[in-house]
Amino acid sequence: MVGSIVLLVYKRCVATFKYHDRLSLIMNLSELIAKSQGVSLPPGPMAGTCMFCGNVGLGHTPEISDSFTNANICSGGAVICPNCNYINRAEIPGAKQSAGKLYRSNMWYATEKGIGVIRFPKKELKEGETGPRDISEIFRLPERTPRSILVDPPEPPFAIFLTRSWKKPGWQTMLRANGGVSTSRDLFLVGFDYEVIYLDRAKLHLDLAYIDVLRADPAKPGKILLTKGELESGKISAGGVARMIDAEMDVAAIVSDLRKRANDPGWGLAVYVA
Ligand SMILES: [Zn+2]
Repeated sequence: MVGSIVLLVYKRCVATFKYHDRLSLIMNLSELIAKSQGVSLPPGPMAGTCMFCGNVGLGHTPEISDSFTNANICSGGAVICPNCNYINRAEIPGAKQSAGKLYRSNMWYATEKGIGVIRFPKKELKEGETGPRDISEIFRLPERTPRSILVDPPEPPFAIFLTRSWKKPGWQTMLRANGGVSTSRDLFLVGFDYEVIYLDRAKLHLDLAYIDVLRADPAKPGKILLTKGELESGKISAGGVARMIDAEMDVAAIVSDLRKRANDPGWGLAVYVA
């Protein structure tokens, strides 16, 4: 009798654990963001499949403008679920005409505890210049740099979006990549405009160390040896070659290596955040 009660409790615990485990695994990016922001999202008037995340339920009627060009990355559904609707329309606090720009005109990371903005390290402001807009009321987690968030990602589940166009709703392509949420700090995905890049953190560390060596001119402290454009494309300018010769580097080996790396999205992302 006691044995069977213990077994029953044990089974319940295992079932509960599995339930939560499963929940975190199947949570997609829109669900993670809605949860972390704690926003109350009423269901829409129409039953159907969400065109962005594929969830079935009561959603909103899509208002697609003529300039909407993302049809190829949508799931073919007829409604927009409350979670995706929130992301699709979210505004930058205090900005004019910013509907939908919060999640595409910023770099951000999301966890179950909230969202934080990702920004390159601040340059010293000149007189009359204003710094970036303060959005800490809505992105409440600490600000991170692109490099630090990739080298030291948050506790899973999490999602990371980076951009260099500052206008592409890359969250939509992230949703199509297994829901867009990462569950491991060692192998995780990063939305980078419309690309979704799977990053191996150990490889990223090696790439960044190599990039640091190739960026800094050993002959002239504080000067650049190769530009980010040269590192990403593998096409080295005459000036870059001259600087490498001055630094007594093996130019042929490095150029050949960089050309091979030019096709690796993880390398391109590492150069961008370095
Ligand atoms: Zn959706």
